[in-house]
Amino acid sequence: MSEKIGIMGGTFDPIHYGHLLAAEECRHRLALDRVVFVPTGTSPHKKNRPVTPPEDRYAMTLLATAGVREFSVSRTELDRGRPSHTVDTLREFLEGGAVPSGLFFITGLDALLSIDTWKDHLLLPDLCTLVTATRPGYSLAGLETLPSAIKRALKVVEIPQFAISSTEIRARAREGRGIRFLVPHLVENYIKCHELYKDSEVLCT
Ligand code: NAP
Repeated sequence: MSEKIGIMGGTFDPIHYGHLLAAEECRHRLALDRVVFVPTGTSPHKKNRPVTPPEDRYAMTLLATAGVREFSVSRTELDRGRPSHTVDTLREFLEGGAVPSGLFFITGLDALLSIDTWKDHLLLPDLCTLVTATRPGYSLAGLETLPSAIKRALKVVEIPQFAISSTEIRARAREGRGIRFLVPHLVENYIKCHELYKDSEVLCT
């Protein structure tokens, strides 16, 4: 029988416990065999802020998932060398032997709400089941406006209350507020060592 694989797509700038919790909850609820984290490469949609270099986001994602048997990290979007499109990523997994009924693309609700601007978005339901992980404070009302083909292919997985976001973590790091217990310790240390999200020098612990 073929595997059920969750593709956890995101910028992961940085990855945090909310992402890990969402991946684990989706794995459990959808009976996935494994979850592959796919950090974005050059995103066609990220024009409003500078994004941390791909290799730093990849390293943090590796550190956060290391030691979890069912989690792995893919470089596919990082190595693509051109803008990342989910449709291309899903096709790569299918060419690698996955079957559409066994592929689940997981991302955040606010990312999913703009899916009708994504390349070939109407093809996505033929390639995978779309999964959105909800978080506190986000209304599901916006989903109503999505194309019906997308709505039919969509599963909503409610994640336990954990109001945490990469935006909040970047702000805390920039302002010198702690990020301990919001991200895995190795990720916290990586952010300090590489002085991500702030200008002043921080020593590694
Ligand atoms: P993002 O900035 O990573 O995330 C947007 C929102 O969704 C943020 O609130 C984020 O929270 C949350 N989020 C992101 N990934 C999540 C996950 N796996 N589980 C739970 N919450 C998550 O969004 P993005 O860079 O637009 O990309 C999201 C995914 O959509 C990526 O895989 C990307 O390749 C894909 N996408 C594809 C296209 C296309 O094909 N043309 C266009 C846009 C996006 P945090 O800030 O806390 O992470």
